[in-house]
Amino acid sequence: MPGSERILILGGTREAAQLAQTLTDDGVDVITSLAGRTKEPIPVAGETRIGGFGGVDKMAQWIIDNQITKVIDATHPFAQQISKNAAQASRIAKVELQRRTRPPWEKQDGDNWQLVESLEEAAEALPKDARVLLALGSQYLSAFNRRSDVHFLVRMVDQPPAGPDLADHHLVLGRPSSDWREEATLLRDHKITHIVCRNSGGTGAYAKVIAARELAIPIIMIKMPA
Ligand code: NAP
Repeated sequence: MPGSERILILGGTREAAQLAQTLTDDGVDVITSLAGRTKEPIPVAGETRIGGFGGVDKMAQWIIDNQITKVIDATHPFAQQISKNAAQASRIAKVELQRRTRPPWEKQDGDNWQLVESLEEAAEALPKDARVLLALGSQYLSAFNRRSDVHFLVRMVDQPPAGPDLADHHLVLGRPSSDWREEATLLRDHKITHIVCRNSGGTGAYAKVIAARELAIPIIMIKMPA
């Protein structure tokens, strides 16, 4: 019942922000937790807290101290540690846990996807002299640093303290566009021949998949974890 619940949303995704908006519009007391990976996170409705909890036990204690009645895990499907922690912490704190999963993208007519299981497999799949959009967070780039025979276009939200450890790369700052035409312009401007991305599902990062389809650019697609 609105008013009696206090919900912790584990966020960092567009879906989590939409959920926070819907629940606060319904009068529910919501607090969204963000990991603090970006300097200027997109504003979220309701309260927010930023930064890691410090592991399972501290998350459980935080849930108890903040009188949380329900945890909704709406984190990114590839953010696996926080989901494991949320499952254990809500058990310890004896609160309900709801996991919002999103289905992976389905291949459409015109898509040219090579499915791989890991970043390492993706790195090996790239042909020599490819020009590649690496649509991955900064913490996932090291798997590609042996490919000095490939040019990488790297997109990051914030300026990193040190450049990516990739022999041949160009860094662009900004978030992915939700307009496939803008993503297509980026791909064309940088003469991109391949994209490496993870099958994250959802709408937030899908525009580049449409752009690749329109421009007939192959995607090395890392499968969503089970
Ligand atoms: P992760 O590997 O699953 O989590 C690593 C640690 O970061 C967690 O143990 C936790 O630290 C902290 N953490 C993660 N999400 C948190 C949250 N929502 N609130 C508070 N602490 C959080 O996570 P990740 O892959 O680095 O992703 C971090 C965040 O970015 C997630 O919230 C996710 O939704 C968002 N995101 C991730 C991706 C991706 O590709 N992984 C893409 C888009 C958005 P403590 O153990 O100290 O509590």
